[in-house]
Amino acid sequence: MSWSQRHQQALEQRRQNGQYRQRTVCEQADARSLCAAGTDFLNFSANDYLGLSHHPRIINAWQQGAVKYGVGAGGSGHITGFRTPQAELEPQLADWLGYPRALLFISGFAANQAVIMALAGKDDRILADRLSHASLLEAASHSPAALRRFAHNQPAALATRLEGLCSGETLVVTEGIFSMDGDSAPLAALHRLAQQHNAWLLVDDAHGIGVCGEQGRGSCWQQGVRPELQIITFGKAFGVSGAALLCDDSTAEFMLQFARHLIYSTAMPPAQVCALQEALRCVQQGDDLRQRLQENIARFRAGCTGLRWAMMDSGSAIQPLRVGEEGAAVDLAMRLRLQGCWVSAIRPPTVPPGTARLRITLSAAHLPDDIDRLLEVLHATGG
Ligand SMILES: *Cc1c(COP(=O)(O)O)cnc(C)c1O
Repeated sequence: MSWSQRHQQALEQRRQNGQYRQRTVCEQADARSLCAAGTDFLNFSANDYLGLSHHPRIINAWQQGAVKYGVGAGGSGHITGFRTPQAELEPQLADWLGYPRALLFISGFAANQAVIMALAGKDDRILADRLSHASLLEAASHSPAALRRFAHNQPAALATRLEGLCSGETLVVTEGIFSMDGDSAPLAALHRLAQQHNAWLLVDDAHGIGVCGEQGRGSCWQQGVRPELQIITFGKAFGVSGAALLCDDSTAEFMLQFARHLIYSTAMPPAQVCALQEALRCVQQGDDLRQRLQENIARFRAGCTGLRWAMMDSGSAIQPLRVGEEGAAVDLAMRLRLQGCWVSAIRPPTVPPGTARLRITLSAAHLPDDIDRLLEVLHATGG
């Protein structure tokens, strides 16, 4: 079979399964609204939880940074790409979250790949929450270490896995707030178990950082847990993009020697790092934004009473409605779209079979009227 024939077959299979993914051009999009094919929608699909992606101070910082440093880093951090803004931001992040070190990565996906690939050797094992992000599970399954998954948010299931024998080291992996369910991991219990077995805990807090905890320090801070490794990302509440690993000194030095994404890839543009420094200030000063987000979450959940679809156990900005069957989820998303509400249907293989859902995301940028409009449309569509 030729390459092309193989592709055609795979694409046909996708189509038959109703899993064909398509991109849509959005002419404009912010945390509250978007415009596609000339039509305006309320946006309930963005991860821009605090509405910072269009913040004037952050835009200005990026512009000023570009004037001062140019638009590209010009090389990896080991050549000439490690520039003043990054040398400032890394310790700022470390101080903020109470770690000795922070290392910047170009994206959360790259950070997870880099960290897991650099750490995991052939006698080691990775015990990951079953619903961990694709970037974590994929890195773990490609690594030489053994990957075992444990039942979602169940410390007892992790405990059973930890009892199994392993001649090398153990890394426990979870998210702080789960990206498709919106629920929080029991971090204290997971960390206690990991410590009892001399394992390290890695928490990917892509959806918690900026949103919860004092000053937006995230899920770990909120739960009073300091995992050995923490990944935070800047494409969600920070409104920009990029990621950081928080860790101790020797791990940071180890990553600088062995994490291939830091060595063989162009560093983040310094102008973007300037934007991230300003975004960090906005997040730290963002109690009013977090308050507004919480009010929107409470308003939405209260208004969901009586809907046909089950809410999930989420106090976060991610508020999925469980639909079940894939076709029904896609159909519901289309009907909401016709009523001016942009919501994404999430289907297998992104979520387990039979749990297709609407993934509704709320932002501090939504007005109470926006939430009411979504609720009105949901009730009219299938109350
Ligand atoms: C979004 C996300 C990532 C990927 O981060 P990017 O910066 O978008 O590459 C990693 N982990 C989790 C849990 C995420 O939700």
